[in-house]
Amino acid sequence: MLTIETPAQLFIDQEHRYGAHNYHPLPVVLQRGQGVHVWDVTGKRYFDFLSAYSAVNQGHCHPRIVQALVDQAKELTLTSRAFYNDQLGPYEEYVTSYFGYDKVLPANSGVEAGEAAVKLCRRWGYDVKGIPKNQAKIIFVEGNFWGRTLAAISSSTDPSSRIGFGPFMTGYEIIPYNDLNALDEALKDPDVAGFMFEPIQGEAGVVVPDPGYLRGVRDRCTRANVLMIADEVQTGIARTGMRLACDHEDVKPDILILGKALSGGVFPVSAVLADDEVMLTIKPGEHGSTFGGNPLACAVARAALEVVVEEDLANKAQQMGQLFRERMNTLVATHPLLGLVRGKGLLNAIVINDDPDSQTAWNICLALAENGLLAKPTHGNIIRFAPPLVIRGRGNDRMLLDHRIDNFLFFCLIMPPPGLLV
Ligand code: PLP
Repeated sequence: MLTIETPAQLFIDQEHRYGAHNYHPLPVVLQRGQGVHVWDVTGKRYFDFLSAYSAVNQGHCHPRIVQALVDQAKELTLTSRAFYNDQLGPYEEYVTSYFGYDKVLPANSGVEAGEAAVKLCRRWGYDVKGIPKNQAKIIFVEGNFWGRTLAAISSSTDPSSRIGFGPFMTGYEIIPYNDLNALDEALKDPDVAGFMFEPIQGEAGVVVPDPGYLRGVRDRCTRANVLMIADEVQTGIARTGMRLACDHEDVKPDILILGKALSGGVFPVSAVLADDEVMLTIKPGEHGSTFGGNPLACAVARAALEVVVEEDLANKAQQMGQLFRERMNTLVATHPLLGLVRGKGLLNAIVINDDPDSQTAWNICLALAENGLLAKPTHGNIIRFAPPLVIRGRGNDRMLLDHRIDNFLFFCLIMPPPGLLV
């Protein structure tokens, strides 16, 4: 097993003793981050290929974003929305023009923005579409993941999200992902107000739908007078090689949900974007958040988005992602343990040819960590690879995808540290 020395073990023990046991982290204790790298408490350096589940697209501790945080923290951090502040308006103008919507509803976490989207969709369904009171339905897809609140897990098809947490919210219907016929069927119900989905399913294991799916969803939602709600919390902000994953098929959702990299991982910031017909259905006093739209979040999010443009991160993700999949495919062809590589831009996964209940993917991740690369299995036998998009932006990282990654994997699979692959 990975050798853990003090003081790392001390921190691990402390978390285990005093923290809730709702996570199963790799045994690595991180202390510092910069760009694509993080360092543990022993000073060992790793390439971060998780990026805090795609929140750190701009790289760890990006100086420009950190500076925005520090500057604003010295001026004003929180007003609540009981008053106006001098950061919110400029940020709202910036983010709405950046993504092409009339309005933004600022929030903090991804799931909170998802809940706000569901509420907006229901309200639009009653006020604009004319669905009878309390009859509104929202369609979700199998394998969806949008967080851990009751509203979110009510739509989940993952037993580990749901078991022991009922009763669940009603008004949801679940159809298969990447299935336009199923969507056609579901949309026949006149009480459907919205269809909420991820343009690429992240937590489900980087599941990329067939070409034409996003356009097909857009057309069908328009025809059925149903809101297309895209959860781009994980896929948005350049991760998949374009500004949004929906941009790959040039479609504009009616409601766009963003989080994670909206702040470059520096601060919890999320957002719901929509045009007036949807957004203005919610009136003062009907929805809110103490921290949503706080000056610190606004300053940080604006800097984080500016970095994405200035450093051309979407193009970088596109180019490096292509290189990554090419290299990984060569490896897949030569090693029986590797099933397939899939993804877009720098949101990729490798499926390990083994039972999802086996420890193989976990053991490969331990071996990768031993060799200085951090990645995490999702759904047992899938390993996601999502490095910061600045991956070849600085110094020696330029070489990483050409030479290092496949060597890492190769090394771990062919010559695993003793006892790791069972
Ligand atoms: N939506 C998607 C697609 C996600 O991947 C996640 C988190 O992984 C969320 C929503 C929830 O975001 P948060 O953990 O910030 O609440």
